[in-house]
Amino acid sequence: MIKFSNINKEYQVGNQVVKALSQVNFEIEPHQLTVILGPSGSGKSTLLNILGGMDRPTKGDISFNDRQINKLNDHDLTSYRREVVGFVFQFYNLIPSLTALENVAIAAQLNNNDDLSENYLKSVGLEERMNNFPNQLSGGEMQRVSIARALAKKPKLLLCDEPTGALDSTTSMKILGILQNIANTTDTAVVMVTHNPEFERYGNRIIRLKDGEIESINDNEQPLLVG
Ligand code: ADP
Ligand code: ADP
Repeated sequence: MIKFSNINKEYQVGNQVVKALSQVNFEIEPHQLTVILGPSGSGKSTLLNILGGMDRPTKGDISFNDRQINKLNDHDLTSYRREVVGFVFQFYNLIPSLTALENVAIAAQLNNNDDLSENYLKSVGLEERMNNFPNQLSGGEMQRVSIARALAKKPKLLLCDEPTGALDSTTSMKILGILQNIANTTDTAVVMVTHNPEFERYGNRIIRLKDGEIESINDNEQPLLVG
């Protein structure tokens, strides 16, 4: 579905060039949970930003269903980001003055999605807490809302940047289970950046980055299932 071919990303910092990604090649498939691992500074955020259309590579090609993403003009790249990609962040990024339901409903409206926002919250097990504000929810509950909000865009690609980075291990496993379920039961491909090496047994494809290069790519024939 998505193919990175010889992707390089360099940043100019003063008169120095920082190589954030060098000759990166991989594919993202639907019906898969792809887990991206690597130490701080290895290029994970840069890779996610390029996947999500927030940034462009310095060199190389990215295709999404045979469409060349890196050749899109700014307007079409914005459409790709809005229509194709859903985002989940470490610190949820919910709107504090809106209830859980309203946070999801706004995303649905912006994407002309008439589906009931309640159903997205039900799908992440949060129907009981729909009318609560973010500050009345636990971290795990806020992350469920943010997943429901991302799904309300009907994304083809769900990008999760350290989605369990602020959660305890029990809650983290529940969030991992939700992401695994989305990958297994919908057409949305799920990509998760994490520091947690335990998660690699649960992913279908594990991509390890080191110093901006691919260290390894491994496919799990039979990933562990949460729950
Ligand atoms: P990670 O997410 O794995 O911590 P990053 O993608 O943030 O890694 O960073 C990879 C490398 O690129 C690091 O050396 C980082 O300092 C550098 N880098 C990332 N973003 C920028 C930027 N906007 N300007 C300059 N250097 C950057
Ligand atoms: P994390 O490791 O938690 O993902 P990062 O260190 O990668 O956090 O940084 C988060 C953001 O800061 C990213 O969007 C990245 O592009 C930007 N960034 C990282 N390093 C630099 C840098 N040296 N100069 C400017 N921006 C940077």
